Amino acid sequence: MEQDSRELDARYYMPAFSRTIKIVRGEGSRVWDDRGREYIDCVAGIAVCSTGHCHPKVVRAICDQARQLIHCSNLYYVPNQAELAERLVEITGLAKAFFSNSGAEANEGAIKLARIRTGRNKFVAFTHGFHGRTCGSLAITHKPAIREPFEPLSPPCTFVDYGDLDALAEAVDEDTAGVFVEPIQGEAGVLIPPDGFLQGIREICDDSGALMIVDEVQTGMGRTGRWFAFQHTGVTPDIVTIAKGLASGFPIGALVAREGLEFRKGEHGSTFAGGPVACAAALATIGVIEGVLPEVPRKGEIFMKGLAAHNPRGRGLMIGIPVGDRCPEVQQTCAENGVLVNCAADGNLRLIPPLVITDEEIETAVGVIDAALG
Ligand code: PMP
Repeated sequence: MEQDSRELDARYYMPAFSRTIKIVRGEGSRVWDDRGREYIDCVAGIAVCSTGHCHPKVVRAICDQARQLIHCSNLYYVPNQAELAERLVEITGLAKAFFSNSGAEANEGAIKLARIRTGRNKFVAFTHGFHGRTCGSLAITHKPAIREPFEPLSPPCTFVDYGDLDALAEAVDEDTAGVFVEPIQGEAGVLIPPDGFLQGIREICDDSGALMIVDEVQTGMGRTGRWFAFQHTGVTPDIVTIAKGLASGFPIGALVAREGLEFRKGEHGSTFAGGPVACAAALATIGVIEGVLPEVPRKGEIFMKGLAAHNPRGRGLMIGIPVGDRCPEVQQTCAENGVLVNCAADGNLRLIPPLVITDEEIETAVGVIDAALG
């Protein structure tokens, strides 16, 4: 059975990923592979399953909506779409939302919105930043290995060192439509910028008329202990992009923008984006996160304290540990001992477990990770 599926994968699926374990079931912070082995999931589908795997409230919301109406064209009022938009406006503090199917596509929307409302063409983004793999989102993504084979990319984008406000001020000019920033860089290995960084970006954008676009695809939906990581700083962005944890694994993304910044008739759209089932999953997810959010900083602290000997850095349940070349081996050892962790860029071990992970599960995971790190 297992062999068959791996052979089928090799024969029929394009080999864009390197895969090892075959996960067949999930519940809370646990997943099971096809051999019945249980794991504590500190990857959560790369920050997606924030409410844990198959949270009963999310499953029920999906099933109830699927029985009622699975799809409705955006040419009509979609039953629960405005309700979700209202919730996203409440939790971001911004004014209006627009839906997509993924994080990359939310950033594509932000690129279009920034261009059309500013009448400008270029963007500035940061070294090691990741915003997606569609052509537009790849154009603002720095990682050379994934972008260079596809160059030239559009829109034009200048990259400056993450954290360097002088370089940013230099790079932003009268044709800069927007500055894209992750408040904590996720794919780069959980890199936290210096204090005052987002405030500095806000000032440079205000001075130049460029829009400040905060990519909260990985940091958002409670991951860092607030709904959004920018909320630790007191800064209000012009546009926030969201996906991953928004609907507990059901595909949906969103951009939320400040007052006056909106798509007008015919300027943007997508067949599936913000469909009824995805909106139901997202509304249920927000309800669950509301309940667990106050616990996120304390749970993050248990990880940080337990792994203190290994120089962890992080905020809430988004933690990186500099491991170096041994990272894949540590990941493997952890998996063999029942804990899934992830190697992000530059040998950084990344922990992004479900927000519902229990204290006991954290203690167990910390023990395994600590032993694997040696
Ligand atoms: N932005 C950030 C910060 C991300 O981490 C990711 C995914 N790793 C994306 C955008 C792209 O999201 P998606 O894979 O849903 O397109």
